[in-house]
Amino acid sequence: MQYDVVIGLEVHAELNTKTKCFCSCKNQYGQSPNSNCCPVCVGLPGALPVLNGEAVKKTIKAGLAMGFEINKTAIFERKNYFYPDLPKAYQISQLEKPICINGSLRIFDKDIPINRIHLEEDAGKLIHQGNISMIDYNRGGVPLIELVTDALKEPHIESADEAIEFLTKLRQIYIYAGVAECELEKGQMRADVNISLKPKGSAEYGVKVEMKNIMGFKSVYRAINYEINRQKEILDDGGTILQETRKWDDEKGESFTLRTKENSEDYRYFPDPDLIAIHISDEDIEEIKKSLSPLPDQLKQIYTSNYGLSEYDADVILADKKISDFYNQCVALYPQPKTIANWITTEILARIKNNEDIAISGENLIWIIKTVDEKKLQRNNAKELLSIIWGTDLDAQTEAKSRGLLSDLDQSVILGILDNVLKEKAEVVEQYKREKDPKILNFLVGQVMKASLGKANAQEIMQILREKLN
Ligand code: ADP
Ligand code: MG
Ligand code: ZN
Repeated sequence: MQYDVVIGLEVHAELNTKTKCFCSCKNQYGQSPNSNCCPVCVGLPGALPVLNGEAVKKTIKAGLAMGFEINKTAIFERKNYFYPDLPKAYQISQLEKPICINGSLRIFDKDIPINRIHLEEDAGKLIHQGNISMIDYNRGGVPLIELVTDALKEPHIESADEAIEFLTKLRQIYIYAGVAECELEKGQMRADVNISLKPKGSAEYGVKVEMKNIMGFKSVYRAINYEINRQKEILDDGGTILQETRKWDDEKGESFTLRTKENSEDYRYFPDPDLIAIHISDEDIEEIKKSLSPLPDQLKQIYTSNYGLSEYDADVILADKKISDFYNQCVALYPQPKTIANWITTEILARIKNNEDIAISGENLIWIIKTVDEKKLQRNNAKELLSIIWGTDLDAQTEAKSRGLLSDLDQSVILGILDNVLKEKAEVVEQYKREKDPKILNFLVGQVMKASLGKANAQEIMQILREKLN
């Protein structure tokens, strides 16, 4: 039987605020366990939460980046459940009045509808070692935004590929908007995936299965395909899908039941009496809108339409915000966007393979590119120069001069060298005149380059030789 696949995503991302959501503890990853907590974020009785305004602003910013409506009044509620990573036995979250509602995200020409983005606090982290489980509350109280797609509206996310595209674009938007770092290895972005199947074309939705907290996009991809196939097999055999929450085991490459609908928790949400409602004015929204820097889709439009880059090159540059920032800086210094893109997608990217920093200044790179364009620096020498100054404070121009890398020989000197070579290699010259073999011409160019210690311009030499010998 043929099925339509319907996928709903719930995506959590930690905001990159300076402090936690309801206390003044630092929002910082990688501290020693339980060293970054206070009575508020470990939930000691009597401690009172104070809302971090920066977290609210960044939530609004995330929403504006995807065309969400902003609720003028938003409230915090208590989501009650018992688990050791949650010291208060409730999480401060939002249900009825989240900050952002009704947005969308465009993937592959489809505008995927999104219900909401709400602000909540992250829980602590359990660490299991053999028979012992330990708890680190440093992450407790870190501001978290949860985005929930609306799988019951069309168009749907229908495949693992589309889900990954959605997550990839969402991650880029958060990073470009400057609201979250979304480093996947640090668990700063995590997704729950809801999947159901229905007979092809049917209007009625199937029973959904939820897979919780899958780490990393590769695992999300595998988990989705596994779940689609699992449901297909059950339905093909005439079975029914159980509404349940499953856990993905990445090592085994399969999922297993965590809990079924029957015993699913009732979170008993109610407004948190410790926190007053958030009021958001039109002026607040305008101000945040103005502070929003260009997003990947807008930049892609500029790169392809105005700068004439290929879609591929534009995507390569935009895949990493630090590359795109660097590219924009270089284009501002020297308005040759295509040439600069070529250098960045080859020479620069090759040198930052392991996600390292760009270890050259825009000024130095542009000096090199310009000097090559002016034919005063050979490409080979330019690459050598790039390697010399990469990761140092050296100045490109000074190094090029002091190391004799510039093609600053007089035209007359070069012509003299060329004439010498023609005399010395008279036999080869005769052979070329007879055979017109381009390999021989290349050999002669090589001889001139060698005699000029690499300072001549190979293309120019080639041209002069052609004129002289043809
Ligand atoms: P729950 O209360 O179980 O978390 P929600 O209503 O909050 O369920 O929905 C969670 C996610 O699942 C949302 O993205 C929602 O759009 C999606 N979803 C709801 N019904 C279905 C379905 N039949 N198939 C796939 N996804 C669904
Ligand atoms: Mg849910
Ligand atoms: Zn704290």
